[in-house]
Amino acid sequence: MRKPIIAGNWKMYKLVGDAVVTVMALKPLVANANHCEVIVAPPFTAIKAVADRLEGSNIKTSAQDLAPETKQGAHTGEVSGDMLKDAGCTHAIVGHSERRAIYGESDALVNRKIRAALFFKLTPIVCVGEALAERDAGNAEQVVGTQLSRSLSELTSDDLSRLVIAYEPVWAIGTGRTATPTQAQEMHAFIRKWLADKFGSAAADDLRILYGGSVKPENISDLMREADIDGALVGGASLEAESFARLVNYER
Ligand code: PEP
Repeated sequence: MRKPIIAGNWKMYKLVGDAVVTVMALKPLVANANHCEVIVAPPFTAIKAVADRLEGSNIKTSAQDLAPETKQGAHTGEVSGDMLKDAGCTHAIVGHSERRAIYGESDALVNRKIRAALFFKLTPIVCVGEALAERDAGNAEQVVGTQLSRSLSELTSDDLSRLVIAYEPVWAIGTGRTATPTQAQEMHAFIRKWLADKFGSAAADDLRILYGGSVKPENISDLMREADIDGALVGGASLEAESFARLVNYER
């Protein structure tokens, strides 16, 4: 049985005070949510304050990115997995499409970041997904397959058991345009099959694959009914405690 994950990505929103107010409001609203893992990913500056407030609760703290390096050193502006653990993180989002598109992150860099996260015993939430033109050209599976192949290069099935995949079609992120449950399920099934071929069916069957892209309280239940959708990575609708709590407490 794969335990679902509902994760909120706060992107570059919220100063420390607002982040703390949000999680303090969220905690009681999701305190009985034993059916899923609940994760919030604040910006770097709010991680420590949020993680401290969440200690002893059922909500975990994720980073939105991490440095690819595993040794401390002269890497101005970077934040290491070690530092994130120290601040209270258990997870790190890796290869979000905004980092790929805006900051030019390659699959090779994503691969290094996954390894760095695993090295520091953080769970990487590895994002993949095609752009609209790629889907319209009928290349969505090929694009996602290539991202998986390069991003997960030289990882073992043991490594696979320590990560989470998020399928986030770029055309659905922040656009209000969600993939239909059928479209999402098709890609999730493709991803699981791809992983089974490469890492074996036991590892692929256990792996959680989240869907991300304009998930809202109104559409989460239909998505979660699909066999290979094991949760959601949510941007906009995770920013307010009440809306995120409705996502966590989706109708089952
Ligand atoms: C995201 O940031 O990963 C995301 C899916 O954003 P949104 O839910 O706003 O589309």
